[in-house]
Amino acid sequence: MEVTVSFMHLPVYIKDDVIFGKLWEWGVEPASQIRRRFLPGEGKERIADGTRILKVLFNDKVRSLPYSARFDVEGGTEYFKIMHDRQTQVCRQCLKSTHIFKECPDIVCYRCRGVGHFARNCEMRRERRTEDDEPADEETHWDERCVDDVKKSWMGDVYVSNGGTNARGVAILIKTGVVENVKKVEDDGDGRMIGVVFEYMGEMFKLINIYAPNDERGRRVF
Ligand SMILES: [Zn+2]
Ligand SMILES: [Zn+2]
Repeated sequence: MEVTVSFMHLPVYIKDDVIFGKLWEWGVEPASQIRRRFLPGEGKERIADGTRILKVLFNDKVRSLPYSARFDVEGGTEYFKIMHDRQTQVCRQCLKSTHIFKECPDIVCYRCRGVGHFARNCEMRRERRTEDDEPADEETHWDERCVDDVKKSWMGDVYVSNGGTNARGVAILIKTGVVENVKKVEDDGDGRMIGVVFEYMGEMFKLINIYAPNDERGRRVF
């Protein structure tokens, strides 16, 4: 069954290949080239509004695409609306209509590589925590793997300064659509400090996150 699908208002810099990649992940095939939608106007002055339209060949397994999909955009990821005829509520992960994404048995945990749960609910993480015998001295470790986990579950921008091999790491998470013009301006490169500036209701703000050392000597140096 061929269905005309619209990916609504994507940033213009997102390449068509990214959309073809999504279709491939979902297990459906494109049945046409991708067409860009233009704002009303003529000739060379036509302005693309970002929306991409193409025909997609559905099959026995996939009869509907999800109502939205996540795309990498400048400085983070964002969800964009998808529309087509006879669209129904399906899981964003496996496209089945029997459950929602949060309850998908196909979710792969980025911590243990197991299925059926998110990394934030991972048993492995919990076990590790109970094994800690000196919780008061324990510094949180925030590495690239954690950052990936967070980026996957946070609908917004993530700014980080990662620390050394076994401690430190700070981050600032920005919820999409709340503040504007977010920029990272401070980063000590050692996971102790990060700062961002952003615009909120016409005014600029600076937010700094500091992770002070928890031992006496380290504190003095800091
Ligand atoms: Zn699912
Ligand atoms: Zn897990």
